[in-house]
Amino acid sequence: MTTEQPLLQIKDLRTHFFTENGVVRAVDGVSFDIPVGKTLGVLGESGCGKSVTGYSILQLINAPGRIVGGQILFERDSNGRKEVVDLLKYGARGEDIRRIRGNEIAMIFQEPMTSLNPVLTVGDQLAEAVLVRQKVSKRSALDRAAELLDKVRLPQARELLTKYPHQLSGGMRQRVMIAMALTGHPRLLIADEPTTALDVTTEAQILELMRSLQEEFGMAILFITHDLGVIAEMAESVVVMYLGKVVEKTDIHTLFADPKHPYTQALLESIPKIGHKQGGPLRTIEGMVPSPFDIPSGCPFHPRCTHFMPDVCDAAVPAETPLDEAHTVRCYLYSQQAEGDAHANRA
Ligand code: SF4
Repeated sequence: MTTEQPLLQIKDLRTHFFTENGVVRAVDGVSFDIPVGKTLGVLGESGCGKSVTGYSILQLINAPGRIVGGQILFERDSNGRKEVVDLLKYGARGEDIRRIRGNEIAMIFQEPMTSLNPVLTVGDQLAEAVLVRQKVSKRSALDRAAELLDKVRLPQARELLTKYPHQLSGGMRQRVMIAMALTGHPRLLIADEPTTALDVTTEAQILELMRSLQEEFGMAILFITHDLGVIAEMAESVVVMYLGKVVEKTDIHTLFADPKHPYTQALLESIPKIGHKQGGPLRTIEGMVPSPFDIPSGCPFHPRCTHFMPDVCDAAVPAETPLDEAHTVRCYLYSQQAEGDAHANRA
């Protein structure tokens, strides 16, 4: 068991969207830690709240969304002096959070085209990212930009500095985004489905690049994805989310060898495995993800769960139950405790 202070601790985070049609509890009481230099995967289907969790860390939530509760404790390191701060106390527009964004914590996205400026060359955009952080000449900033392109293994870096984003492939654009993220020497990189738009060969190359840069720079990574294969490649530990809640939290080996939550088990059974009989159908998860405006009572997974227990599973939200020091699950198969009871016991 590690006693080291985690780099990031999220405690009971709640991010809600107040729309005309009702309140969407996109993130509803999420808690997890990321150790220094490690990778935590956040896994779940579309709409489970995983990206909103990532955006909440940097307080990049636009109206009608609002972070309504919780803590985001981040260990800052200024010249070796460590200090744990609650990022939410900084406010979304404060000087401190703006200093952290892109420096101590950087973020890369699924589609780099949405983050790169289409009318500026790669060199101008990378040099600008260097210039906002360092008092150097434009020429030195361009030299640094070329070094960063080398670092992300883009050949002919000097020539590439003169290109516009649309002249690059998707994989090259994602490498440019990673280079831009590195300009601030982040201690935490939030990667929101960074390889989903890429073909499998390019995806493998980008994942390998991220792992080697992580080792070189000692960065922690919060890796958001719906892809179990990518999680297996990248993460040391995983949180599985469903409708705004963490339903299971464990290390990567246990996730694949001994998943406990019926949703995690169903996700794993829905992917092909080596050694399985060819031609047999894969299991699908019954039903659809419910509307976020109409979340089922009790355990939100109950309408799709093959272990559903009437009057138990639909009565109250199950509490997050520790199975061992690194494994928690939110399901009545493992504990009769409901979420409200857990809060009452803590109070
Ligand atoms: Fe299934 Fe009940 Fe567990 Fe929810 S609490 S996952 S419905 S068994």
